[in-house]
Amino acid sequence: MSVITATSAVPPLHSPRSAPRPRVAMMVRSSSAVSAASILTKLHSDCATPLPLLRQVAHAMAADMRAGLAADGASDLKMILSFVDSLPTGDENGLYYALDLGGTNFRVMRVQLGGKEGRVVATEFDQVPIPHELMFATSEELFDFIASKLAKFVEKEGGKFESRPGRTREVGFTFSFAVKQTSINSGVLIKWTKGFAVSGTEGRDVVACLNEAMGRQGLNMRVSALVNDTVGALAGARYWDDNVMVAVILGTGTNASYVERVDNIPKLHAPKSAGGSTIINTEWGAFSRGLPLTEFDREMDAASINPGQQIFEKTISGMYLGEIVRRVLHRMAKDATLFGDSIPEKLQMPFSLRTPDICTMQQDSSKDLEVVGSILYDVAGVNSKLESRKIVVDVCETIAKRGGRLAGAGIVGILQKMEGDSKGAVFGKRTVVAMDGGLYEHYPEYRRHLQDAVTELLGPEISKNIIVQHSKDGSGIGAALLAATNSIYPH
Ligand code: ADP
Ligand code: MG
Repeated sequence: MSVITATSAVPPLHSPRSAPRPRVAMMVRSSSAVSAASILTKLHSDCATPLPLLRQVAHAMAADMRAGLAADGASDLKMILSFVDSLPTGDENGLYYALDLGGTNFRVMRVQLGGKEGRVVATEFDQVPIPHELMFATSEELFDFIASKLAKFVEKEGGKFESRPGRTREVGFTFSFAVKQTSINSGVLIKWTKGFAVSGTEGRDVVACLNEAMGRQGLNMRVSALVNDTVGALAGARYWDDNVMVAVILGTGTNASYVERVDNIPKLHAPKSAGGSTIINTEWGAFSRGLPLTEFDREMDAASINPGQQIFEKTISGMYLGEIVRRVLHRMAKDATLFGDSIPEKLQMPFSLRTPDICTMQQDSSKDLEVVGSILYDVAGVNSKLESRKIVVDVCETIAKRGGRLAGAGIVGILQKMEGDSKGAVFGKRTVVAMDGGLYEHYPEYRRHLQDAVTELLGPEISKNIIVQHSKDGSGIGAALLAATNSIYPH
């Protein structure tokens, strides 16, 4: 994951076109070179996502879901039971906290709930980027950091927020990594992902880790609900809209959860008559079948801290899109002198180009692609010609399009699995897919490609019933709601 969080605002020293290149050096390089155009053509074909391919991806997603529900370890998809059997009703009352550890940011939130009438009376939140060194720290260091930020936030409680005297404050803890949940308020970390390599957490109960750290800070607080971010998003969105059946997060990483009938979960060994539904956390980032991958994806995967794992996540989520583009541009610089006769040093640095950068470059509507030029200058240290900038934008579009369309196919896979079990259950009525995460929220082209794929796959009639919509901060409020639902105190 990138160490670079801010790019320099220094403008280019020369105007791009006034920088002459030494001819001799150009000729030396070009003797062994292929053209950037031919690398681009190959990229287009390797990343292509025509409808038949998307159909296969959706089909494989549905099949992997079934396999994961049948038995643990039988599929790339873990299909984790969330232990959230009762969704918020609207009667929840009082002050609750939510704490969200994603991949990039750490958020704290307080929510004052006012029952059916008042609903969400007030919310307040604070957000802190996770310091890079903590991603490689010890478990205690990471959780102490979290608890200390939480303590600072709690100190500022006041105004519309009222905690009841004598009560321990309760927290919904959103933790966006693969956890084997053992109850609503306990769960063992299976594996860090998204570049995290914190020592001493894997195999431990992350709720205990946080409760202990809060104790060390002298906080009178406890975790009432351990909530995967997608599960929180689903609970939060459903609080407002009963038709929400699926939630998808596209941020640093990606994941999806959905409402499943208990009798569709063979590995639960529930009595046939059990009935009722629960939320399943798919951990779909681990999906891997039938994806159109390039040599750049393979190289990035091989260099990652979890090679061979989280392939869907590495193809569609925010942590990786910028890095894939960087690898393509690096190849174009090396083999096709895209930026002149030398390979810019910064461009060789993994994760130096971030997904927000490629998003910004795609938004550039100026004639000379000036924004593209200045980002390339800041990030890669190069003066670029218009011709090169156009190629760069094309690479960004190619990678974003593949990501968005594959994410759309994944969503359709989930919907088809649900529909397959119970005809008419999702396609025959209004069904909402709640979306959250920085990538989905901030990258309009990605969002459009995702929606296009969903519409193409479902066809015009069915897609009228399927609403894919952003539900901002749903996961934060969802976690607070689940803390309320699972409170130790009576309402
Ligand atoms: P997390 O996944 O850590 O919980 P978010 O949901 O806030 O956090 O997502 C942050 C991620 O969203 C970033 O890592 C980045 O990849 C992506 N992102 C943020 N801003 C943009 C943007 N303007 N364009 C594209 N992607 C963005
Ligand atoms: Mg998040």
